[in-house]
Amino acid sequence: MSKPTKAELAKYKAILTAQLANLRGDVGSMRDEALRASDQDASVDHLADQGTDNYDQGFMLGLIENEEETIQHIEEALERVAGKGDWEFGVCPQCTEEIENGKKAPKDSKKARSAAKLDPWIPKARLEYLPWARYCLRHQEDEERNRESA
Ligand SMILES: [Zn+2]
Repeated sequence: MSKPTKAELAKYKAILTAQLANLRGDVGSMRDEALRASDQDASVDHLADQGTDNYDQGFMLGLIENEEETIQHIEEALERVAGKGDWEFGVCPQCTEEIENGKKAPKDSKKARSAAKLDPWIPKARLEYLPWARYCLRHQEDEERNRESA
């Protein structure tokens, strides 16, 4: 894998910007809907529906939370595309760390050998599908596993 070209960065930026506008619109209208559902709960006529409304509202709020997290990831990716992020766009910071640790490890140790084979660049196919991906697939899975067990 290799560093994204200028043209590729422009393409990722366009996808990120469009997706961000999309999600912001979504979250806005979902929030309106959730608020409307809670207005209804307040009226006596809808007491019977309250159970489902509460369920819908909880479900909706969960969706909003997820989308807000994605929005945050997209904003961070846009900063990386602009060269202002915490790390370079297209690179997996966890792989970078493993490579750095491998360089410090004794030569020819298992750690050094496996780190030498690592490529910190996230595959283009993944970035095209998910330009706001923070990590390579392997480290993304690690991260999700850690979160579940937390
Ligand atoms: Zn990685």
